[in-house]
Amino acid sequence: MGKRRRPKLTAIIRTRGGLSVRRRWISIVAKMRERHTCPRCGMKAVKRVSVGVWECRKCGFKFSGGAYTPSTKVGEAMAKKVKG
Ligand SMILES: [Zn+2]
Repeated sequence: MGKRRRPKLTAIIRTRGGLSVRRRWISIVAKMRERHTCPRCGMKAVKRVSVGVWECRKCGFKFSGGAYTPSTKVGEAMAKKVKG
């Protein structure tokens, strides 16, 4: 009885809308939770800090990107700016 059930992803995300929206949202969240490649050091250590803000756990590179996935275009532009 004292078992703690892990809430399912679908249970956490209560998105209004049709099935297609929900399905898309789940895939977005799944991508969001994945580690992304850092545009600076190239390590797969980028995690979402908040909406649109991403941070690399390896080199501490913080950059703004998409709300759910770090935009590589933005990342590349930022990396170029940092390098000079
Ligand atoms: Zn990095």
